[in-house]
Amino acid sequence: MSVYHDEIEIEDFDFDEETETYYYPCPCGDRFQITKEELATGEDTATCPSCSLIVKVIYDPDDFAAYEEETVALPKEKQLAMN
Ligand SMILES: [Zn+2]
Repeated sequence: MSVYHDEIEIEDFDFDEETETYYYPCPCGDRFQITKEELATGEDTATCPSCSLIVKVIYDPDDFAAYEEETVALPKEKQLAMN
């Protein structure tokens, strides 16, 4: 296995709602990325498309496990916004 360049908490990533992907700046100028779906399957390695660096994503699997089981359910924030 490759060695992680760094370990980043999911809260430090920028989330893009359109692509449902989390981004974090890479030293090369591009961005590490990992999708919400990948997190739901237990994937915790964010990759950069422009270089070979990878980072380990620190997150609570329980926060994303529900997403896989209830794909039609809206996140809590959105439900609150609708009420
Ligand atoms: Zn890079």
